[in-house]
Amino acid sequence: MSDRTTNVVILGSTGSIGRSTLDVIEHVGPRLRAVGLSAHRSLARLVEQAWKHRPRWAIATDEAAAGDLDWGLLPPETQVVLGDEGVAEVVADADVDVVVAAMVGSAGIRGTWAAVEAGKRVALANKESLVMAGPLVMPLARDRGATILPVDSEHSAVFQALAAGRREDVKRIVLTASGGPFRQLSLDELEHVTVEQALAHPTWDMGPKITIDSATMMNKALEIIEARWLFDLTAEQIDVVIHPQSVVHSFVEFRDGSVVAQMSPPDMRLPIQFALTWPERYDSPAERLDWSAAFSLEFEPADYDRFDALRLGMEAARSGGTTGAVLSAANEAAVAAFLLGELRFSEIVPSCRRVVEHHTFDASPTLDELFAADCWAREQIGKIGARGSGLGIRG
Ligand code: MG
Repeated sequence: MSDRTTNVVILGSTGSIGRSTLDVIEHVGPRLRAVGLSAHRSLARLVEQAWKHRPRWAIATDEAAAGDLDWGLLPPETQVVLGDEGVAEVVADADVDVVVAAMVGSAGIRGTWAAVEAGKRVALANKESLVMAGPLVMPLARDRGATILPVDSEHSAVFQALAAGRREDVKRIVLTASGGPFRQLSLDELEHVTVEQALAHPTWDMGPKITIDSATMMNKALEIIEARWLFDLTAEQIDVVIHPQSVVHSFVEFRDGSVVAQMSPPDMRLPIQFALTWPERYDSPAERLDWSAAFSLEFEPADYDRFDALRLGMEAARSGGTTGAVLSAANEAAVAAFLLGELRFSEIVPSCRRVVEHHTFDASPTLDELFAADCWAREQIGKIGARGSGLGIRG
C-alpha cells in the first residue's frame, strides 16, 4: 500500500462511521483517497463532503430524496449515481480497492453483498450484513476472493489478537461490553427510562440506534452473532464481559490460558484506519492511552438474567438460519417504536424474544428469504406497538 493510493468507497458516508472514515482519510494523507461517497437521505451533507474530498462518484441510495436535490451543486468531476444498482456498479469498478460498508441497518446488506461479490476488501461496519446473512456472505467472500475486515471495535480487537497464535489453538474469544448507561438501574427504574436518557451514552459517541442497542445490550447480542460468522466460531467459544471503561476492546484466550487483548481509548477512527491500511499501520488521529497518569480498568461478569438480549444473541449464534435476520429486524423496528413512544424501553428486548420465538425457522434460507423474514419480523413489532399497550407486561 505504501507505493500507491488505496481508493476507498464509503457506503454511508454521512453517518457517524462514514464521517470518522473521512477523518482518517484526511489524516493519513495521499495513501488513501475517497473515490466514492454514498448517502441515503442526508444529501446536503453528501454534497458538502463531495466538495471537500472530490470523489469520482456521489451515490444517492434513496432515489426519491435524490429527485429533490439540485445535483448541479456537486463538483464538476463528481458523477451522480442512484440506487442499489448504482452502488453495485461503483463498488465493482476496477479502480476501487476498499469498500467501507457503513450503512445503518439491514438495508446495508445489499451494498456489502455487491462489494463481496466484486471480490473487494470490505471494511465492515454494518453488523447486520453478518448478523442477518453471515451464512451466505462468508462463503460468497471465499468464492470471490473478497476479504472482510471488521470495523466494529470488538471484532477489530479479536482480529488483531488472533494474529498472536494459531487458529486451532484458540479456546474462545471474549467480547467486552461497556454495560450501557443503565447497568446500575433497578428493574423498576428501567421501566421508566426515557428516550433522552437512553440516548446519553457514557463512553462512545454513536448514532441513536446503536446507543439504544448499547443500553439494552442488544448491540452485544448482534456482535456475538457477527463474531460467530466472521471468525467461524461456535456460540460456546464466545463470551461477554462487562468493562465500563471501553479501553480493552476484546480478547482472545488461547489453549494454554494466555489471554491476548487489544487496548486503546474508545475512538472508532482506530479500527476504521486499521481496516483501511491492514496489514500496515500508520500514525492515527485517534487519542492514545496516557501511561503517565494512573488509571484503572474494571471487569465484571455479564448478567445474562438481567440482559436477556445476550441470551437471544447466543441462541441466534447457535441456531443460525433465519434467526439472526429475525432478531436484527425485530430489534430495529422495536428501537424505532421506542423512539416514537410506541414501546417502553423495557419492552424492546421482550418484544424481540417474542417475535424470534414465533417465527418459522429456516435453517438454510436464500437472501430473498432472509429479506422476507426481515419484513415479517418488522410487521410483528408493528402489531405489538400498534396495540398501544405493548406486550401487556406492564406492572
Ligand atoms: Mg462494537
